[in-house]
Amino acid sequence: MSQSKGFILIVDDEKDITLLTQRFLELEDYNIVSANNGREALQIIEERYSEILLVLLDIMMPQISGFDVLKKIKANEKYNNILTVLFSVKNFQMDIQKAKELGADGYLPKTISGKILLDYIKKMLESKK
Ligand SMILES: [Mg+2]
Repeated sequence: MSQSKGFILIVDDEKDITLLTQRFLELEDYNIVSANNGREALQIIEERYSEILLVLLDIMMPQISGFDVLKKIKANEKYNNILTVLFSVKNFQMDIQKAKELGADGYLPKTISGKILLDYIKKMLESKK
């Protein structure tokens, strides 16, 4: 296991997306935890923040959006070490801009291939060390 410590948190209201993403990331032996809404995500972050390496966060979710979860992460110093990557079906410049303004570490459109996703996440985690 290359990442025996820590895990990646995948947050998306569509279960198919969390499952698919999880499968790709597990090809690299990453430990994965997933949440299907913002509330669940925030609960996991609160309880296990010291183990979370990176949060892959869907933007469009009911009630608590990915932007809302991102704001909460950035508002709490305890969570400083958590990398945040927003994940969206939209790839509009506005979303990317907003993600940056809120302090996201990265942004990915959902249309990318599993291989690109994997390379991107790998690079981010390597640059963190
Ligand atoms: Mg969604």
